[in-house]
Amino acid sequence: MAKNIIQFQKGLSLPKFLEKYGTEEQCYSALFHLRWPDGFVCPECGNKTYCEIKSRKAYQCHRCHQQTSLTSGTIFAATKVPLTKWFLAIYLLTQRKTSVSALQLKRGIGVSYNTAWKMKHKLMQVMLEREKGKKLSGRIEIDDAYIGGERPGKPGRGAAHKAPFIAVAETEGEEHRPQRMQLRTVSGFRSAEIERYAKTSLEVGSIVV
Ligand SMILES: [Zn+2]
Repeated sequence: MAKNIIQFQKGLSLPKFLEKYGTEEQCYSALFHLRWPDGFVCPECGNKTYCEIKSRKAYQCHRCHQQTSLTSGTIFAATKVPLTKWFLAIYLLTQRKTSVSALQLKRGIGVSYNTAWKMKHKLMQVMLEREKGKKLSGRIEIDDAYIGGERPGKPGRGAAHKAPFIAVAETEGEEHRPQRMQLRTVSGFRSAEIERYAKTSLEVGSIVV
């Protein structure tokens, strides 16, 4: 759940956004479907039948009677800020190309500066985590290098006490401008090792240069 965050389609206009996520009900429903895409599952015992405790926005398991709040275990937990404001904050932070300051966020969603600052940092953290897990795709450049070790070490590959790593860049356009980068430590530069990296971190169909 931590890496999952409500995502809005690119280019969603503000009126359309408000139409879809303008009320607490709508936001709760969206969060429910994000958290339990196949229906509620009790985190305690895995049972799927429950009753809803509307006043507390919680769900009580029919089998073990554990109560689970919709926001527990999410970044929205233990917050007094309504979900509509969280959603609007996510909308503002993700739909603009330029970065949004805490002050702009405060004005945009109508909370105190302190609250806006905290919300922004929580959301940025989650977005960063998500980005880390994303695979690179398209035209990829891979370079190998070593880090650390004694100097002057043995030159070239296999130098003692040095950690091998690869620097990987996803590039764009005719000038091959780097868009996103990954640095990964590897146990060596044998092709099997590089292949293992590619399988886990690159999209199928990427062109490796
Ligand atoms: Zn249960």
